[in-house]
This record gives sequence, C-alpha cells and structure tokens, in this order.
Amino acid sequence: MENFDIAIIGAGPGGYVAAIHAAKNGKRVALIERDKLGGACYNVGCIPSKILLEHSKLVQAINQGNNWGIETDNVRINFPRLMQRKDTIIQELLTNIEHYIINNDITLYRGEATLTKDLLITVGNETLTATDIILATGSHPFVPPFQGLETATYYTTDTFFNLKELPAQLTIIGGGVIAVEMAFSLAPLGTKVTMLNHSEDILQTEEPESRPLIREKMKKLGIELVTDFEFEKFEGNTIHTTKGTYTYENLLFATGRRPNTEIAQHLGLAFEGLLIAVNDHLQTSQPHLYAIGDLVGGYQLAHSASAEGIYAVDYIVGNQPASIDQASIPRCVYTHPEIATFGLLEEQVKVPYTMTKMPLKTNPKGLMEGNTEGFVKLITEEGSGQILGACVVGDGATEMLNAILAAKNAGGTALSLAQMIFPHPTVCEHIGDAAKAVFGKAIHQ
Ligand code: FAD
Repeated sequence: MENFDIAIIGAGPGGYVAAIHAAKNGKRVALIERDKLGGACYNVGCIPSKILLEHSKLVQAINQGNNWGIETDNVRINFPRLMQRKDTIIQELLTNIEHYIINNDITLYRGEATLTKDLLITVGNETLTATDIILATGSHPFVPPFQGLETATYYTTDTFFNLKELPAQLTIIGGGVIAVEMAFSLAPLGTKVTMLNHSEDILQTEEPESRPLIREKMKKLGIELVTDFEFEKFEGNTIHTTKGTYTYENLLFATGRRPNTEIAQHLGLAFEGLLIAVNDHLQTSQPHLYAIGDLVGGYQLAHSASAEGIYAVDYIVGNQPASIDQASIPRCVYTHPEIATFGLLEEQVKVPYTMTKMPLKTNPKGLMEGNTEGFVKLITEEGSGQILGACVVGDGATEMLNAILAAKNAGGTALSLAQMIFPHPTVCEHIGDAAKAVFGKAIHQ
C-alpha cells in the first residue's frame, strides 16, 4: 500500500492545480482521475465553449469587415475542421497538464477512486493512504425531470461538443451563462437558435444593465428568445409550454450542474443542501478531508476551484494563507459583447456608495474597433473610495476587468484608478474616466 502526504481525487482545475501546488511545496502527492485530465473545464466546459465562441466572433468580425469596406465573399463554415481545431487545442492543453504532473513527480492514478470510512483510497486493485485528502470530484449537468422527457433525444454540455455537423436548428433549454454562451457560439455560424428560458429574463445573476445589451444582440443574431412560461410536457421533438408549442431538430439542456458527491455519501460528512459543507479552511466535517471546487459553495467556476485548491494545500502545509475573498473572484460571460464582473452589484451594496458608468460609444479605440456596445461601471464606497464592485461590458471586457481587479487587490481605491495613466488609445482609458467620474471629473463626459 502506497502512502502519500496529500492525495487529491479529481484532476479538474481544482484538483490538478492543487496537486502541482502541493508538489511544489515539497509534498508526496497522489492525483487520481477516472476520466480525462482537466475535468469538465478542459473537456466539456470552459475551453471547448470558448473555442466555439472564438470561431463565432471571427465570423462576426468578417461580417463587420464587409460593412467597413473589406469585402470577403462566400464565407463558408467547415464545421468538421472547426471541431478538429477545438480537439487539437484541447489535446495540446491536456498534454501540457500531463507534463506538469510528470515534471512535478506527482503519482497519477487513472481510475475511479472510492473512499472507506477510515479514509483508505482504492483505485481499481490499488489501495493508498494519505495524511490529507482533497476531494475535487467536480460536477455534472443537471436535467430537470420534465414530464415526457424519456420521449425526447437531447444533448447536455457533456455530449454537445462531440457534434459532427453544424446543426441547422438548435433549441436550448436554460437562460444562464452557459445557455447564453452556447447560443452565441452557434447562431453566428448559421444555426437557427431558439432559447426557452422559463424565468422572466436571461442571465439573472449578471449586472442588470448588461442584460438588455445581450438581448438586443441575440435579436440581431436571429436568436429566438422565449421567457416567462412553464414547461408542460415533452413529446418527441415537440415541447409544450404555457406560452405555446415548440418543435426542435436538436435540443440542448443547459439547466445547471450538480456536484459529484457519490464518493462522499457514506462517510457521514455534513452537507449544505447538495453541496459538501466545509469550514473557512475548506475542511469537511472530517478535519483531514478537504473539499474544493464545484463540490462546495461559492462560485462554480474554474478559477475559483483552482484558488480553493491552492488555499487547501497552503493550509495543509502550514503556509497560513489569506482567506479567499469572494468579492475578488471575477465572473465572466464570453458573449459578444462580453460581460465581466467582480464584487457587488448595485442592488447588493449595503453602505453609502457612488456608481459611475462610462459608455464605450465615446471611447476612441472602441469606435475604431466597432466596440461600442457596452460600458465600464464602478461601484465605490462613499468617502473611502474603496472599490466594492466593477462591471465591464464590451469586446475584451474579460481582459479589461483585470486592471480594476489588480488595483483593488493591491488596496487601490477610486483615487488610485483615477490617477493611473492608461495608454491612448485603449478601451481601458474608460476605466480611468469612470474613476475620475467618482470625483465629478471625468474628461470624456
Ligand atoms: P471538474 O472540472 O468537474 O473536475 C472534476 C474531475 O474529477 C473530473 O475530471 C472527474 O472525472 C473527476 N472525478 C470525479 N469523481 C471521481 C472519482 N471518484 N475518482 C476519480 N476521479 C473522479 N468556468 C469558468 O471559470 N470559466 C468558464 O468560461 C466556464 N465555462 C464553462 C462552460 C461550460 C459549458 C461548462 C459546463 C462549465 C463552465 N465553467 C466555466 C465551469 C467550470 O468548468 C467548473 O466550475 C470547473 O470545471 C470545476 O472544476 P472542479 O475541479 O471542481 O471539477
């Protein structure tokens, strides 16, 4: 039986990052994965969805070029080629992860891990022990138990990225980040997309002022959006709702995810609803057993899982890590325009605050790029100028947000951002102006 300092179960962005960090801290590490390295994120999540979105953005850029006088006729989509590019990129990334694992002397076990009550780990015929164990088993797509669903054929995000042909038609059930990103990735390629979202609006966790921009863009892309109804039943390729009947050729459920907790069900751990309960140090109710990523509360995001993996390892090895500040975890939607946010939305602020907003349509670089749909919004505490939240909507928003986040994490305030010298012309200049606006001194307003 092999003994390790730390064993990590699951090699998604939570687990593989924790394993490398533990090895770099001088620990003997086991990493166990039953499927592919990289977890949901690299194989059926962040990475394939963003590759598809890049292709769609390129098609939109080509269309925009036609309006600018760069005429490209006959744009055709070679879907198998495009999917091959996706596979090649993913393979390259997975090979990189494998190299990091080898280079850091991590022992990789391939197979399904199970745990006994006294925390012995088995993988196939092998048994191993570790002083500390980190559960990083992630999550899987959730499909609500609709009436008649057994008569329907459908995809989830676990199966969708294996498509062989560009679907002529796609109906997406859901209206959250994943559903909307999937609509934006297919519609510009020529798929006729219908989105059935039973609640009253899409992207309900996102900045309310970003939603009309996204709805508007969906309309331009020909995406049919149906909201505010109840599902009645599924019947073959027909969906009956209180708002009408919809038929589909292809159906995708993007209706949330559920944690993979099978491994822990018999251990007598505390749960919070479906999630494993952990304390501030990510310890479960068994102190040498930790849980991170999509298994626990907080944001179900790859970078959140990685940050938790690093935190748990630092805590185990005695590095006394600073606790993870949920207000510093960025949330990104890779639509076109993108939405990037951290911290509080206005409706969540409980102290006196100032909100400033600079629309991109007055930004010189934005105008050059045709990047005029969007804004930079800052929420700062009145008096101290502390940055409570920020939202950038626009092309490149997911990169731009990091300038504000870096300032906040370095203890910066509205004043530090207002005094920062941004290069001209850049879209980021509007961050400086939004900060100057806190003092009533925006230049381009
Ligand atoms: P996972 O990535 O789910 O990895 C868990 C791993 O554990 C899996 O590889 C699984 O095979 C393995 N495992 C499970 N049980 C066992 C066992 N018993 N034995 C051995 N191995 C086991 N997040 C972002 O931050 N940015 C994005 O742009 C983004 N886009 C997304 C797009 C889509 C379509 C989807 C579905 C998700 C997206 N996410 C995104 C969310 C992100 O993928 C997850 O938050 C992230 O993968 C969670 O990481 P994790 O390490 O907790 O779990």
